[in-house]
Parts: sequence; C-alpha cells; structure tokens
Amino acid sequence: MNIILFGPPAAGKGTQAKKLVAERGLIQLSTGDMLRAARASGTELGKKVAGIMDRGDLVSDDIVIALIEEQIENNPNAKGFIFDGFPRTVAQAEALDLLLSKHNTKVNSVIRLCVDDEALLARVTKRFEEEGRKDDNPESFKVRLGNYNAQTAQLLPYYSSQGKLTEVDGMANIDAVSAAVAKVLNKNGNGADVTAPVVKKGFFARLFGR
Ligand code: AMP
Repeated sequence: MNIILFGPPAAGKGTQAKKLVAERGLIQLSTGDMLRAARASGTELGKKVAGIMDRGDLVSDDIVIALIEEQIENNPNAKGFIFDGFPRTVAQAEALDLLLSKHNTKVNSVIRLCVDDEALLARVTKRFEEEGRKDDNPESFKVRLGNYNAQTAQLLPYYSSQGKLTEVDGMANIDAVSAAVAKVLNKNGNGADVTAPVVKKGFFARLFGR
C-alpha cells in the first residue's frame, strides 16, 4: 500500500509517517529529510538547495523526483511507501504516478492532515526551539505556507477526482490523529473517500496582509 501524507508544513506528516513505519512496516520517503541529509553531508546537491530551503521556497521538481525515483528503485521489495512532503506540485504527482506504474503499483490513499494556520505557526516555533531548523522561522514559514497554498493545494482536486483523498483532523493530539489515520487505512484496503477540496485563507493572510 502506498500512502501520501498531505498537508501544510508542520501539520504532523513526519510524526504520523514514523508511526506508520513502526506499525505497518512501510518505508517513509520524506524529500525534506533527504534534502537535509544532503546538506548535512555537504554534497553538491546539498549546497545547491540550501538557500532555497532556508528561504522556504520549493526546490525544482527534477531534483525531488530524482530522489524519489532512486528510493523506489532501491527498495524493490518494499511492502509500500509513505510519501511525506512529496508530491508538492502537479508535475511531481504525475511523475509519481508514472514511477509507481512502472513497478505495477499506484498511490492507494492520500490523507490530508487539516490544521489551522495559527496552530501551524505555534508548532513551527516549538520545533525551532527543539530542532533548530533554519526554515522554522516566521518569515520562511510565511513563504512555505504561501507555496503550499499556491502550488501544493492544487493537488487536492487531482487526488479527490480519483477518489483517493480523505481528510483527517490534524488538530487533535498525536494518538487521536494516528487512530483516525488507521481508521482510514483499515476501512477498505485503500481507505479512500472523495472529499471536496477546501483551501482556507486564514491567520497568515490577516497577519501578513495577503
Ligand atoms: P519539509 O521537511 O517537507 O518541510 O521540506 C523542507 C524543505 O525542503 C521545503 O521547504 C522545500 O524547500 C524542500 N522540499 C522538500 N520536499 C520538496 C518537494 N517535494 N518539492 C520541492 N521542495 C521540497
């Protein structure tokens, strides 16, 4: 089973992905983690993406698609993948469909974690204190959320029209979110519900006058 955990930055995708790895033996593929690892080991790729990431912008589709392709190729016997922070653009979603179809598999379920903008900012601020991620500051976060709304949210109709999208309340505590995710995944083997895409303008629009 291949699952996409979908949602804005700091919605809890990474936390839920790690739980699914532990519970279901799936492989987490986080493009953000891969890019941070490239930076930490000082590779050319890491140097190329550092500034883009710190600003909160998206790195190019080619780069992240190649990272995902490499991981899919390297794990031919995987029970399935949890995509965390990928895809973020329609081009990435189309590339993912193609890559999976080459391996006779597909995206089964897309779970959208819904979290208010105010709560996202609070989580990012807390994560900065705990992990020191450079892009977890209000200015970069504003860019990241803007990119999410402008580019990534376009994937909601892409997946809902295929009947793969289910929304989960990401404001609840971690265990309650996990339980809701499990319910979706256990429902019918792929656990998809068609839901109407909702793109909310909220706190950040007011805070930054957008
Ligand atoms: P994340 O950890 O998922 O929040 O990603 C951190 C940063 O890595 C993002 O703000 C982007 O700069 C970059 N990044 C991660 N995944 C992608 C992606 N799928 N497409 C483009 N940029 C990405």
